[in-house]
Amino acid sequence: MASPVVLVPDRLVDTVNGDVRSGLGVVVTGSRIVSLIAHGQIPENINRIDLAGHTLAPGLIDVHTHLVGEIDDGQGYAGLVTRSAARETLAGVRNAALTLQAGFTSVRDIGTFRAFCDVALRDAIAEGWLSGPRMMCAGAYVTCPGGGGDITGLAVDVDAAVPRELRFGVTSGVEQIRVTVRQILRFGADFIKVIATGAVLTSGTNPGAPEFTEAELAAAVEEAAEAGTFVAAHAHGAEGIKRAVRAGARSIEHGSLMDDEAIAMMAEAGTFLVADLYDGDWISEQGPRLGYSAEVMKKNALTTDAQRTGFEKAVRAGVRIAFGTDAGVFPHGHNARQLTYYVRYGLTPVQAIQSATRWAAELMGWEAQVGAIAPGMKADLIAVPGDPTADISLFERVDFVMKDGAVIESRQAGSGSTTPPPMPKESL
Ligand SMILES: [Zn+2]
Repeated sequence: MASPVVLVPDRLVDTVNGDVRSGLGVVVTGSRIVSLIAHGQIPENINRIDLAGHTLAPGLIDVHTHLVGEIDDGQGYAGLVTRSAARETLAGVRNAALTLQAGFTSVRDIGTFRAFCDVALRDAIAEGWLSGPRMMCAGAYVTCPGGGGDITGLAVDVDAAVPRELRFGVTSGVEQIRVTVRQILRFGADFIKVIATGAVLTSGTNPGAPEFTEAELAAAVEEAAEAGTFVAAHAHGAEGIKRAVRAGARSIEHGSLMDDEAIAMMAEAGTFLVADLYDGDWISEQGPRLGYSAEVMKKNALTTDAQRTGFEKAVRAGVRIAFGTDAGVFPHGHNARQLTYYVRYGLTPVQAIQSATRWAAELMGWEAQVGAIAPGMKADLIAVPGDPTADISLFERVDFVMKDGAVIESRQAGSGSTTPPPMPKESL
């Protein structure tokens, strides 16, 4: 039996009730939180982790990451055939470590072009072979031929030679979608990602245009439900969003071009909005250096401000929000930058923290395990210097990370630097 340890911060974020509490320690035994205890009642002989000056929060959760593969290089998806599955997976090993060190102890990883590399990464982390966040993953993109999750831009005579694993989820028609969804789940995916509209980064696709019928989306939802799981729908345009909501998708990813009716439908149905509000700035700042096409830059300009306006309206309308960044477009480990955007566009600081903890866990169905500091929860805990309700950007400087009761990072006062890791080379 592991001996207990008590973490002693100045304050902690109560993500269940949406407030901040002072004067409490958190007792961890093995991989679980066992109790909260007043500072004055902490026994003399218990091991302590002193987090003076710090705020303790549940480990953060990003529900829209792409851990497998290199950072998008702006060259279009044809570049994917220049890297092996092994290389893409090993990039995922690096990306997983960076994500965990930044305080993200769980992720919903929402697709890879190299099908099922994410499943292998998830399992390797769960086995303890390597360090990374607890993963829920999508296996492959369910997308129509030539759609937002396909490899586009190839010459017609080259196109036929693309390996199956790069197009595992390319499918069309109600019956064939059922088959594809079953296959993806059979090979180990935890949920299904459908591409319901065109995409910003996929050449030749229109973010505003639907790419599946409502019947096709409903078939995917039904097959996922048969297997006890759900569908996350990539959707920018309002019509694609509405079809996905009516079909029963659990979350809308991006939601950039929502109209008022789509927002009302999401609020009514309880559909989560996962909006990557930071991403647009990264693409507009870095796109020219990365060599993004004029087409991509134009689509990014079309979606960035609209998405932020829609997010503000959705928050006011009571749409459920979960924190998802699209990390992989920008370098992994900088996911927390988006918290500032969530506050700027309508959430309170505590709500922004909830979106990246409790609410994210609710989206994933993991709320009994992660996303709150409470007895019985996994001991996924992070600490930031100072009071993040006064300055949400403090989450970009996570000093302490514990996952499953094991200390991953510890840079708190007296034990060295509190500077964040530098931005990876690609971004300089
Ligand atoms: Zn994405």
